Amino acid sequence: MADSLSSGGSFRKEVRVQIPPPAPAMPSLDSKSNIIYPIFLILVGLTASFVYMRTRNGIRLELPFFTKTEVAKPILPPAAPAKAKIPVLVYHYVEVVQNKDDFIRRSLAITPATFESHIKSLVEDGYTFYFVRDISDVLTASKAAKAVVLTFDDGYGDFYTDAFPILKKYNVKSTVFINSGLINQPNYMTKPQVLELAKSGIVELGGHGYSHLNLVQVEKALATTTVETDREKLKTDYGVTAVSFCYPYGAYNATIQQIVKNAGYTYGVTLDPGWILSTDNLLAIPRVKPGAAGTGSLAEYLNSLN
Ligand SMILES: [Zn+2]
Repeated sequence: MADSLSSGGSFRKEVRVQIPPPAPAMPSLDSKSNIIYPIFLILVGLTASFVYMRTRNGIRLELPFFTKTEVAKPILPPAAPAKAKIPVLVYHYVEVVQNKDDFIRRSLAITPATFESHIKSLVEDGYTFYFVRDISDVLTASKAAKAVVLTFDDGYGDFYTDAFPILKKYNVKSTVFINSGLINQPNYMTKPQVLELAKSGIVELGGHGYSHLNLVQVEKALATTTVETDREKLKTDYGVTAVSFCYPYGAYNATIQQIVKNAGYTYGVTLDPGWILSTDNLLAIPRVKPGAAGTGSLAEYLNSLN
């Protein structure tokens, strides 16, 4: 300052030229790029790692710049078959057997009074009654707690006269397997009776083979015709698209199962003992003989099975 006062204007001008420009308040454009570029690289790297980890772990990517179709679908192992305890009870005759010398019939029969005690005990114990055709839904929807299925084989006349009135009284569902070729024969239900069952809403009609042949013991062609004809007759005579089949005499093997499946059936019930059902074994459903409960409560007997 003292120099500029003692010297002329030209000196002041020279000094002014030599004064360095004031330091910029903000970093220059070059120094800004030097900071932003590494930050940009780090962000890109982090984003790429995030995307890789999310898609690798099969989690759907929700970032806005990816569409859903760009995301690899997770490859999950096949779902395990659903399993649960569902006792499928097998009844034959519900009647007071008139011929005391008919030991086979007596061994298959229970009296209407005993049958009613069965139904009453299950209703009072909180059991829910399902059709055979409901089994898959019951298993997959985890509704199996105290689920039970009643099945009646052969389509005998006593189902209509003795069992059906009790089932109606308690409004209980059951599945009835008929031999369509034996309807109207002595000892079997009549066609109008079966039609009434079909319309009742509490009876599922299932196939049992046209004439109760042992399917394992006949030629494959005859077994096929028997199963297919029976199912068609259920449709034409009773308007029923049957999905449940009962192997006559409980006799089946892989070939018979395939014939039954090809005919349009989803379920095949057997006489194998058991109460644990599985979605991967619907063509070999085991059943429980209610006579095993003896004179005790059927509900208590079923509760004790595990
Ligand atoms: Zn039978």
